[in-house]
Amino acid sequence: MRALCAEFPGSYWRHLDRDRRYPEEFVARLTADGFLGALVPEQYGGGGASLSAAAAILEEIHASGGNGAACHAQLYTMGTLLRHGSDKQKDLWLPAIAAGDVRLQAFAVTEPAAGSDTLSIRTRATRDGDEYVLNGQKIWISRAEHSDLMMLLARTTPLDKVGRRTAGLSVFLVDLRSVGSGITISPIRTMINHSTTEVFFDDVRIPADCLIGDEGSGFRYILSGMNAERILIAAECIGDARWFISAARQYASDRVVFGRPIGQNQGVQFPIARAYLATRAADLMVKEALALYEAEDPCGEEANAAKLLASEASWEAADMCLQIHGGFGFAEEYDVERKFRETRLYQVAPISTNMILSYVAEHVLGLTRSF
Ligand SMILES: Cc1cc2nc3c(=O)[nH]c(=O)nc-3n(C[C@H](O)[C@H](O)[C@H](O)COP(=O)(O)OP(=O)(O)OC[C@H]3O[C@@H](n4cnc5c(N)ncnc54)[C@H](O)[C@@H]3O)c2cc1C
Repeated sequence: MRALCAEFPGSYWRHLDRDRRYPEEFVARLTADGFLGALVPEQYGGGGASLSAAAAILEEIHASGGNGAACHAQLYTMGTLLRHGSDKQKDLWLPAIAAGDVRLQAFAVTEPAAGSDTLSIRTRATRDGDEYVLNGQKIWISRAEHSDLMMLLARTTPLDKVGRRTAGLSVFLVDLRSVGSGITISPIRTMINHSTTEVFFDDVRIPADCLIGDEGSGFRYILSGMNAERILIAAECIGDARWFISAARQYASDRVVFGRPIGQNQGVQFPIARAYLATRAADLMVKEALALYEAEDPCGEEANAAKLLASEASWEAADMCLQIHGGFGFAEEYDVERKFRETRLYQVAPISTNMILSYVAEHVLGLTRSF
């Protein structure tokens, strides 16, 4: 990964960022070299690797100055398909994904009215004979324009007709190439180059065998996928933090002011050392979460903790790096401002910091439920 990433230097990502363009060449290269099929079992032609391998792939992309958001969904949605998909679905999709013929890069959960309250989503999937009919709206669905498949969470039973709020949700693997005109995908321009979109479903008919697992059990399937997502995003944050620390070290050694390198001043050294230690500590939590996930043990606490600690470590490192670069931190050519913008996302998406703190307070520490 390190060698491959070296072929896509900061200037590549900088130009994409300026034009808000998808890193087509980079994704094609990752696909051709088998990295995006890493988690597909060997029997389907994939790499048969563990989630740790996916974490290493994404960490290296970020540590090199790049951004894995162009392609990370294929790695974190894979667990839901592998653990809960039918043999027929696996036979149909996994060889094609492993061969790079099909991309599974869109993961559609968030809705404008529901926000963090996932159980309130309103996109409906209604059974009609051999088909489901989709109606509703999703927001912030990244890479929908660059993916063949979309993993979609929708309500199959209305909220007021289920006993528990977690029931009545289902997961579908939708082939975006064959859904016809009922689907509208509108790009959203954001402060980072993220290819994110709004998706509207208007009487979209999909075959009933797009359903993953049992109807109504989708929230459970999605949760295990979300743990993988949180761990992999945490690994991306560790990569970002490594990039910021390395850039800060280099600049602090090279930049001479008042007749000495600025890095000779302890006021400059200490924030770098602090960011480094915060990153090391967060990385230990990422490793612990990975070990639990791979053993198929409960890892909700650790996956959430890894995501929170790593996103805060990368943000601390980003702020430190910008400060140490002085005015040059704001110049595009140093990539610091781009990486600074990019790493800020991770305290909001895929889950915001407050939601993690609330999960820990309620489910780990047993404090009174707040909402
Ligand atoms: C660039 C980008 C890409 C994304 N990609 C995807 C994608 O591919 N697929 C997908 O499904 N989603 C995606 N998302 C959506 C992302 O997961 C959500 O933005 C995130 O979960 C937060 O939801 P929200 O934006 O609706 O914020 P809200 O839920 O509206 O929350 C706003 C703020 O209020 C806080 N808050 C809300 N309720 C409480 C409470 N009870 N207590 C304390 N604080 C609270 C939150 O922590 C947050 O800081 C993406 C978002 C962005 C910005």
